[in-house]
Amino acid sequence: MICDIDSRSELALKVEELSGQNLFACYQCGECSSGCPMSQEMDLLPNQVIRYLQLGFLEVLDSKTPWVCSSCLTCMVRCPKNVDIAKIMEALRTINLREGRDHLDPKTLKLEDDTPPLAIISAFRKYVG
Ligand code: SF4
Ligand code: SF4
Repeated sequence: MICDIDSRSELALKVEELSGQNLFACYQCGECSSGCPMSQEMDLLPNQVIRYLQLGFLEVLDSKTPWVCSSCLTCMVRCPKNVDIAKIMEALRTINLREGRDHLDPKTLKLEDDTPPLAIISAFRKYVG
């Protein structure tokens, strides 16, 4: 364990409450990031998101990574510590949305005829946290 409960930041505690995950179980092996299919679109890799949260860096709330995450669960399958990062990403989106910080206006979405239904459902799941 990297730190005890008293030294967790308010943000880390909130993310743990919303996600049900132990952020401090992560030991930064990077397995999650190396398998993430969306990593090239991210400004912080999944393991970096967790590191920012462990350190209490509020900048993580400005990252586009939680909005880019497709909730594919590849990271959770690869994680030797069973950390469900998709739930952590969802918690970060929820915190942002509750504070009125939206990454994208759904009204600006352009859905093409050949957009896979799964992509549409996944996109809108991000707005119901
Ligand atoms: S795979 Fe798990 S333990 Fe490794 S960096 Fe990612 S979240 Fe942390
Ligand atoms: S759930 Fe998100 S962070 Fe994890 S591998 Fe999939 S896209 Fe990447």
